[in-house]
Amino acid sequence: MNPFPLRPLLPRLFWLLALALCCAGAFAAPKNIIILFADGAAPTQWELGRYASRVLRNQPFAVTDRVFRDGTLGLLSTHPAGVFITDSAASASALGTGVKVQNGAVSVTPDGGRPRTVMEAAKQAGKRIGLVTTAQIYDASPAAFSVHANSRGEAQAIVDQYLALEPDVLLGGGRDFFLPQAAGGKRNDGKDILAAFAAKGYTILRDPQQLRESKAAKLVGLFSDKYLGLEIDRNPAQEPTVADMTRAALQALTRDAGSRTDKGFVLFAENENTDEAGHKNDIAALIRALWAFDDAVAVALEFQASNPDTLVIVAADHETGGLSATSARNEFGGNTYPVIVGPKEFEKVMRIDASLDSVAARLGARPSPELLDALVARHFPGFTLDADLREAILKQQPLERNFSTSAQIVLSRMISRQTGFYWGTSGHTAEPVAVGAIGPDAHVFRGYADNTEFGKRLLQLIDGR
Ligand SMILES: [Zn+2]
Repeated sequence: MNPFPLRPLLPRLFWLLALALCCAGAFAAPKNIIILFADGAAPTQWELGRYASRVLRNQPFAVTDRVFRDGTLGLLSTHPAGVFITDSAASASALGTGVKVQNGAVSVTPDGGRPRTVMEAAKQAGKRIGLVTTAQIYDASPAAFSVHANSRGEAQAIVDQYLALEPDVLLGGGRDFFLPQAAGGKRNDGKDILAAFAAKGYTILRDPQQLRESKAAKLVGLFSDKYLGLEIDRNPAQEPTVADMTRAALQALTRDAGSRTDKGFVLFAENENTDEAGHKNDIAALIRALWAFDDAVAVALEFQASNPDTLVIVAADHETGGLSATSARNEFGGNTYPVIVGPKEFEKVMRIDASLDSVAARLGARPSPELLDALVARHFPGFTLDADLREAILKQQPLERNFSTSAQIVLSRMISRQTGFYWGTSGHTAEPVAVGAIGPDAHVFRGYADNTEFGKRLLQLIDGR
């Protein structure tokens, strides 16, 4: 008699269990991964986008109401090698390789190591890859998820590495380092990299209409010499939205690319405007940037609905601006006139129709009192510029040393005093960032972790481990 009657059954039971789990989706690695990346956005910004969307647009905010609520939610610490506060290059390097680097470095460690990036891993796994951003396409975040540079300022070397890596889709700004100086660009080696991409079979796009009409599977679309404008100032004839670019990238990445077997894709789609608005303490521009980003999240979720083997991730690198919507007094001393942020304050902010950057540019280096008063009356209806702030702009005095741009920050303080949207800095802060994921294997991003854990888990998913 067999004393261990179950033993021969165990391997068979294991495989039956494995098969059942696999069919139930527990082992189903995502075929496609869409990383939606909002530079400078932490939970503070998401809550702003959610509340503003509800009270001003009466519509749900896809980041919080779909991805965070229906998917999994995690928090990531953001400190880089050596200090507490990160820049975009160091944070995107940690997220894109799983390894800490110093501020300014693009996926290069302090001892010169070049850890494998998410996009390099995706290429090795036979996946198609795409980069989308409202910044220059060679900017720190898309670069750190893809290639390597000792400094984020090495734009020409980053573009050269893109040409070698051959992402299937590149959409954003930054035409300057694709063109030689003779053609109006900034390259110092006389090369025309757009022509080099065209010679490799890429379709080159220059405006939103070409983007809408493109039927190509390999795209380079650069819509500005530098970065694309803030959504509040955007010219729709010249620059697409981040949602337009995300939609076009998804179409291109799922077109038959010829002989290769279909292993899916990894797409990185970034809105840099959320960081830019934070640096300038521009609450009106930030709300519109958050909504523009949310439209791109909705595009990704729509794609996922018909391609359920797609993992959608919402991530960010750090908080920018130390934003705090609060209750405040708008007079010295006493308890008079408390300002508490509510629907009225949001409505007042949304009547502002130009970015603080664009108003500061029109003020110029030596603004006249008449010009200043006219611009405030025209673009900030319902706001009045207090005497101390008016004098600071006319004399070009920064409010505090920690605030790097002068007129923008003073105009921002006018908005703060009259609506309750205050800012602590014009730089980055250490607030942990949220990461939301929905789709196959979303659970690996749950909980509190360091930003390097995000990179490690993402690489494991791409490697199929
Ligand atoms: Zn920044």
